[in-house]
Amino acid sequence: MARKFKSSKLVIASHNPGKVREIADLLAGHAVKIVSAGALGLPEPVEDGESFAENAEIKALAAARATGLPALADDSGLCVDALAGEPGIHSARWAGVEKDFAAAMTRIEAALENENDRSAHFVCVLALAWPDLHVESFEGRAGGTLVWPPRGRRGFGYDPIFLPAGYEITFGEMAPENKHAISHRADAFRRLIGACFQI
Ligand code: IMP
Repeated sequence: MARKFKSSKLVIASHNPGKVREIADLLAGHAVKIVSAGALGLPEPVEDGESFAENAEIKALAAARATGLPALADDSGLCVDALAGEPGIHSARWAGVEKDFAAAMTRIEAALENENDRSAHFVCVLALAWPDLHVESFEGRAGGTLVWPPRGRRGFGYDPIFLPAGYEITFGEMAPENKHAISHRADAFRRLIGACFQI
């Protein structure tokens, strides 16, 4: 049985404004005041885990330790089938220190030059850590295919090349509320809310 979340304040352990925005949207309607690790000036921990879950826990625990508050971290990425799951946990790193996702999307296109399989999925692991270092983690997924050229300016990261299964527009073209209904982050959130936020 997962531990229930009863605090009125939650730290979002992310320095990625795109993620913080989506997490804030997904938590709207739950009576909790959120503050981001970026806004608190917390240092970014080294993400040296070997899985999404390990990295999410590293970030959530670092923020809970530093603030004495519960903290929620998201580790996520794009897994391309023909690239054996890469960039995966290295999704942010494929964009370099400049966080150049146009370059990262071109890099994936080049890596798939001789491949017919364009299938991919996003993964999101949410880790909720309490100040006593108890952690609960939840994984969500969204499947689809990759398209070039990139389409749309909404969302963030790899959204413009990701066509979710059953849709004809990319995450980059989708209104936020529609992405939130089907995304990997929304899937992980549904599991988190069901386990920790509902009595
Ligand atoms: P993290 O901060 O190490 O978890 O980096 C995750 C990276 O995966 C982000 O910087 C994005 O490049 C990518 N990513 C994760 N979720 C999404 C999404 O919803 N849309 C597009 N890209 C995403």
